[in-house]
Amino acid sequence: MSRLLVVIVIFIAIYLLLKYYRKQLPKKDVSGEDASTHSENMVRCAHCGVHLPKSESIVVDQKHYCSEVHRRTHTDEPA
Ligand SMILES: [Zn+2]
Repeated sequence: MSRLLVVIVIFIAIYLLLKYYRKQLPKKDVSGEDASTHSENMVRCAHCGVHLPKSESIVVDQKHYCSEVHRRTHTDEPA
């Protein structure tokens, strides 16, 4: 009997966690350029426009790229 109670408590806990987590989610801002309020600055790939953390981006001439491939494609530099 007490085992059932534990299971129910766990389910309620999971439910509340999910509810809490979902509340946090819709804070996504798709505004683009000024996404500077994050804990880590997000930048936009100059080629495909994908957002990525600044630390993971490749910076060339003050432009950010999500990957070496896009950096190369955008700057038209021969491989
Ligand atoms: Zn890209």
